[in-house]
This record gives sequence, C-alpha cells and structure tokens, in this order.
Amino acid sequence: MFKAVKVRLYPTSAQQHALACQFGAVRWVYNHALEWRCTAWRERQENVTLRMTLDQLVTLKRQPETAWLRDADSQALQQAMRHLDHAFSRFFNKQARYPRFKRRSGKQSMAYPQRVNVVDGNRLYLPKVGRVKAVLHRELVGRIKTVTVSRSPSGKYYASILCDDGKELPQPDRHVDGDQVVGVDLGLTHLAITSEGVKAPNPRCLNQGIRNLRRKQKALSRKQRGSTNRNKARLLVAKAHERIANQRHDAQHKLSRQLMDENQAICVETLRVTNMLKNRRLSKAISDAAWGELVRQLKYKANWQGKHVVSVDPWFPSSKQCSACGEVVSELPLSVRTWTCPTCHHRHDRDVNAALNIKAEGILKLKAAGLSVSACGGLCKTGEWPAVASEAGSPFLKGGEQSPEQLRARQSFLSDNHLNS
Ligand SMILES: [Zn+2]
Repeated sequence: MFKAVKVRLYPTSAQQHALACQFGAVRWVYNHALEWRCTAWRERQENVTLRMTLDQLVTLKRQPETAWLRDADSQALQQAMRHLDHAFSRFFNKQARYPRFKRRSGKQSMAYPQRVNVVDGNRLYLPKVGRVKAVLHRELVGRIKTVTVSRSPSGKYYASILCDDGKELPQPDRHVDGDQVVGVDLGLTHLAITSEGVKAPNPRCLNQGIRNLRRKQKALSRKQRGSTNRNKARLLVAKAHERIANQRHDAQHKLSRQLMDENQAICVETLRVTNMLKNRRLSKAISDAAWGELVRQLKYKANWQGKHVVSVDPWFPSSKQCSACGEVVSELPLSVRTWTCPTCHHRHDRDVNAALNIKAEGILKLKAAGLSVSACGGLCKTGEWPAVASEAGSPFLKGGEQSPEQLRARQSFLSDNHLNS
C-alpha cells in the first residue's frame, strides 16, 4: 500500500538557493524535451521516445553551454523526463490535454526517485541540497519511495513523501450491510445531503474570502511591473488563494472521512460538471464546491478500507422520482424544496428524496456487481426518519435521535447562520 505524507520544509537561505537551482534545471530539461517532441512531430512526423530524451540529457551535460545541468541531481532530471513521457501517454489515452510548458512563476516542483532519507527525526536529506529542516508531524510507515519537493506560489516549501508499507490493499467487502449503505446527493445550498437526512453545509470558502482576495488583487494590478512592491503584493494574493484552498481541503477531508467511517458503501451521482460550468451564474459556486475532489477523496479512502463508492448515472431521475412508490413527476422546478407525491401522498424533502433514490440505484448496482446486500430497514416508507449516526466528528453532521422537526430547525439554523452571512 502506498501512502504519501506531505510535510513542511524550512530550508536555510543557502538551501533555498540550492533548491531554486534544482527546480530551474528540472523545469528547463522538461521544457526542452517538450519543445523537442513537439517540433519533431510537427516538422518530421518523428516520434521521440523516453529513451531518446534520457540519452539527450547526457549529451546536454557534455555541451559547454548546458554544462550547468551537472549541478542538478541527475535522477531528478531523469524523473522529469519520465513525467513528460507519462503526460504524453495520458494525452494519447485521452485522459488529459496536450502537455504544456512549465512556468518560472507559480508552483515549482521536482521529484527525487530515491536517496532521500530522514536524519535525526527532524531533517530530510535531499541530494544536492543537504539536510533540510522538516516538520515530520506524522510517522512514516515503511520504505520511502519517491519524494516530491515543491514550493508554493506563496513561498512555502513542502515535501510529499511516498512510502510503501509492504502491505496489500484490503480486499473489498463481498457482503454489504444494507444499513451501512448511504446515498449522497451533492448540491450547492448544502454540500452533501445523505439519504439519512443529514445535510452537510457548503462552506463556500471562496465566498468567504472573496473580498479579501479582490482587494489584494486590485492592489497588485496597480503595482509597477518588476518592482519589489509588486512582488510583495503578488505574495499577498498567493497567500489569500492558499488560505481559501486550505479551508476547502480541510472541510472536504473532514466530510469524506466521516462519511467513510460511518458507512460501508457510498453512492454518489456522477455529475457532468463541465456542462454545468457553462451556467455563468453558478459556475463560480460550482467550482468552489469542488464535488470532483470530494468524490476523489471518498474513492481513495474507500480503497484503503476495502469499502465501496458507487457512481450512479447522471441521467437517472433522482430528484423527480418518489422514493416511496417510484412515481416520476413530470415537472419539479428548482425552487420547490418540498413536495407531496400525487400517488402515495408521501411528503418529500427534495434533496433527501434524491439521496434516497441514489441509494436505491446504488444498491442495485452493488448487487449487479455480484455483491450481497442485506435488506435495510430505513427507506422512509412510513414517514419516519431513520436514526442518524452521531458519533464523534465534525459538529455539523450530528443528527442524533432528533425528530424531523428538530432536525429541520437545526438545519435552518445552520444555514441561516453559516451560509448566507
Ligand atoms: Zn409516491
């Protein structure tokens, strides 16, 4: 099992200089090889392979004008060539777009495939840089594989240490307890609504930080190009962006961790976010919610524990179908938050109903994949809300044994106080 730990580095100014040289060399060879691959294909329809780019590195180091590449760690340069090759194969497999040149401004990163180790428990030995002070806030389990060193636009240094603990990934459970399956509807008013009736508020990190960001971006735009003051302003903007991203990450990790701990299988809708982003009124809020990242976190956390994440097709009528009797209503505008089924007269909360439908569809998919799913009690057929797991975790997900009225009052309290301010 591979697990990465990202730690903060505190290099001295000499080490910062050495790191800048490494970043520069890695970026230069990457861009050089990319340029070569582009022109070779465009002008001669020639395919440049990984082997050819690795051989080219040796030639470059021998030439006097690029002899400075010898100061960089040779394996890090080779790793850059592998990354480029990987980028091209992802492009050919239609998983990514065409590789782009790396910029001198912005985030810098490089990878050491080996020869990095921990010294005295508080330092990280990096080839050609030395022993860099590191805060190893978490124990490194197993053998260190690749170490990726990066510098954020705000000037912070990090090392992402990938370790192999020698264990196999746990086998996915063949039997799933029906009560441990949850349907999750992703939204904007609430980030996630579960089939158990729990609503996790959308933290709207961008909304929270937009005024700060806007002020600093305006200040930056007024500074003269190339000036020291412009650089200071740039740093402030980078820090504001970083803060927003950190808040979002924090909220998503807490939510995905709690959902994963409390359930054995999670059913989510695959959303066509690219299409949804065409809505210019909502695109900012949709990007800020970052549903894709949440689903990605759920998936890898499920893999670690042998649990399941089921994707339900987007064309499935999750909102318009009555979860109690299966009736599909023809029209349900977005403004309608609660509705009553014309056939069985069951009163539905729009989002919880959708989550229940996603759950039912997910259980069908689990069964189709050959898993056994035991019957679950709480499909809300009698109008009673099933009890909500309320163990430790973030306060906003707690439901306890509350009645529907209490739960609704609590949700409206949360939404009034935290979302719309
Ligand atoms: Zn119905």
